[in-house]
Amino acid sequence: MPLVSTLSLWQSTAPLPGYGPLRSDIEVDVAVIGAGITGLTAALLLKRAGQRVAVLEARTVGSGVTGFTTAHITEALDTRWFRLIKNFGRDGAGIAARSQRAAIERISALIAEEEIECQFRRLPGWLFTEEDRGVIELEQEAETTRALGLHVSFAEPPLPFPVKAALRFDDQAQFQPLRYLAALATAVHGGGSFIADRTRVVDVEDGEPCRVQTEGGTVVCRDIFVATHSPVNDRLLLQTKLSQYRSYVVTVRGRGQSPAGLFWDTVDPYHYVRTAEDDGGWFLVVGGADHKVGQNPDTVAAYRHLRDWIRPRFSTSMLQGKHPVEHEWSAQVVETVDGLPYVGRNPTNGHVWVATGYAGNGMTHGTMAAILISDLICGRRNEWADLYDPARIKPVSSFKEWIRENVDYPLHFVADRLKRPAARSVEDVPRGEGRIAEIVGERLALHRDEAGMLTALSPVCTHMGCEVRWNPDARSWDCPCHGGRFAPDGQVLDGPPIRPLRRKKLSITEDVRKTDPSTAIVRRLGLAVALGGMLFGKLGLDPAVAVIKRRRERGRVVTQAWTRWTILGAAGMMAAALARVRENFAAPGCQGTRRVSLAADTLFAIACLTGAMNLVCGVLLTRTAKGGAVPIETGLRSGPAMTLRQRRLHRTMVVGGWTQLAALAGALALQSPSQGRASLI
Ligand SMILES: Cc1cc2nc3c(=O)[nH]c(=O)nc-3n(C[C@H](O)[C@H](O)[C@H](O)COP(=O)(O)OP(=O)(O)OC[C@H]3O[C@@H](n4cnc5c(N)ncnc54)[C@H](O)[C@@H]3O)c2cc1C
Repeated sequence: MPLVSTLSLWQSTAPLPGYGPLRSDIEVDVAVIGAGITGLTAALLLKRAGQRVAVLEARTVGSGVTGFTTAHITEALDTRWFRLIKNFGRDGAGIAARSQRAAIERISALIAEEEIECQFRRLPGWLFTEEDRGVIELEQEAETTRALGLHVSFAEPPLPFPVKAALRFDDQAQFQPLRYLAALATAVHGGGSFIADRTRVVDVEDGEPCRVQTEGGTVVCRDIFVATHSPVNDRLLLQTKLSQYRSYVVTVRGRGQSPAGLFWDTVDPYHYVRTAEDDGGWFLVVGGADHKVGQNPDTVAAYRHLRDWIRPRFSTSMLQGKHPVEHEWSAQVVETVDGLPYVGRNPTNGHVWVATGYAGNGMTHGTMAAILISDLICGRRNEWADLYDPARIKPVSSFKEWIRENVDYPLHFVADRLKRPAARSVEDVPRGEGRIAEIVGERLALHRDEAGMLTALSPVCTHMGCEVRWNPDARSWDCPCHGGRFAPDGQVLDGPPIRPLRRKKLSITEDVRKTDPSTAIVRRLGLAVALGGMLFGKLGLDPAVAVIKRRRERGRVVTQAWTRWTILGAAGMMAAALARVRENFAAPGCQGTRRVSLAADTLFAIACLTGAMNLVCGVLLTRTAKGGAVPIETGLRSGPAMTLRQRRLHRTMVVGGWTQLAALAGALALQSPSQGRASLI
């Protein structure tokens, strides 16, 4: 089966520029946080207006949601226009319609002015329904959109499957979003403005001047535009009006004539479809299966759903190969309670500006936000400002939605903490997976990478304290309350959190690692034989031989006992060493346990070395006396008749023996059953 890429189609086909991190303090007119479509469009418009701009990007240009979009550029918003009229009145909806058209035209103008090669193409959009009840919805939408001045009509869509009705939106568009973004970035960087990537903003301070703290330096500026998709500067005011959904996309290589157009059905969550050119061929790009972030335990099923949706609708003659899915990716959409984004001055701030809540319409909303914010920062009037004001409250229209979205927070905050953890021990965390576990009474987010290494984190989201959940598809820790997402090492990926999940140190001893239990038994048995034999020699045999009167006889007994024991002890040490190597190969351990493991292994190595040294000395010593009758007092004390060489060899063996005993005891103690569970250190 061919591999499916989890990079988006755009990431696989667009080289993106890199700039390097901020390394010192700097002063500019405007700091823009985030290098997605919103931040880079705003930065370019501000630069063109004569501002010195710094774009600060935590990762790289286009690494945010813009890299994972499907880039339908459309006025057919996720929230139906008849609902927007209900929420904002005819005038408000009219302003929204004009702003969307302006955004499409601005994208088109920027492409022409900057001569951007990004497969920009004007084409119609189709809102279609396969259900009878969807027809009424389409009729209602047609009536509203016509009244708002949009060009719509009922027509037959160029789809290879039957539909009940389809509403055609004229003059929509599509493009390759990352080629567009790369060109915007190139236009922004230079001439007094710059982009710093791998520069995470850790604090935003309003004032005159404002300050943006990053990991590499402070940016002092007059205005700050937070263009991070989900605002990282807001904990409460905006976040309670936002909800984060995850949306999924698959691509399939097509053949023959491609169905040109943008397509959306009327089910909830809806499916969105377009095609994309690629090296003379084309891809079918289908998205949907949305769910609230952190609230769908089977995210892999979302891709299955999309494949199952495609199969009966697009004939095999249209799609290539037996397993035609080439890309699968997912990312986040931010929705507002009243259906329009929040764009403008951050509530409670003077010089901090935000833009968020685009739902699945970030190409137009992001561009609209960039136009609006650059106007406001430059002191230009803009008729859209009141409509999109982040401080707006629509009590009647959005109250129900507000309750529905916010009941999640207290519910998850309390209920998730009472839930039985998915893992009872570190052994229950398979490779490449994450699990919530309870270790000595504390809940932990445990992740084991493909090499077997464990990472332990606090599962408490650093935004507002809910417990994160493992997302097996995106391999991330997702927060079900406000959609924060964290990488397996705890670093922030998405959403409102600004700080990573707290690291926890685990002390995990060998027997809880995910290895064959018989290996641990062999290792312990080997160590026990070696240690037991030595203790018997020192505590039992040594005092016992002291009662033998004849010194020669004593020497012979000690030599006989030592020779036999040495064979057994060496076999035990060898077995323990082999088992240890096997264990380390199978499960290299856990971050935080490495020091314990290293100490145990060092002690074991000392025991092996001193054991080998004693073996050599013992053989040399027995050779010095006839029949092995070395004239010793006891195993630990030299006899008066011993030669200088015999004394030296014997003393070395005594010191080596005690060292070996101590090292073996230490190695075993660090792996003893009493410490054989994971514990926090
Ligand atoms: C699957 C999917 C399909 C979609 N399809 C469409 C579509 O067809 N049409 C459409 O119009 N919209 C679509 N959308 C929505 C659209 O893609 C997004 O709304 C849009 O890309 C958001 O752009 P942005 O610039 O605001 O955010 P992003 O592109 O996410 O950029 C924000 C940037 O901020 C950076 N950042 C975050 N925190 C920090 C920090 N602390 N310091 C510094 N930088 C930080 C991030 O790394 C990121 O690069 C889709 C969304 C998804 C998930």
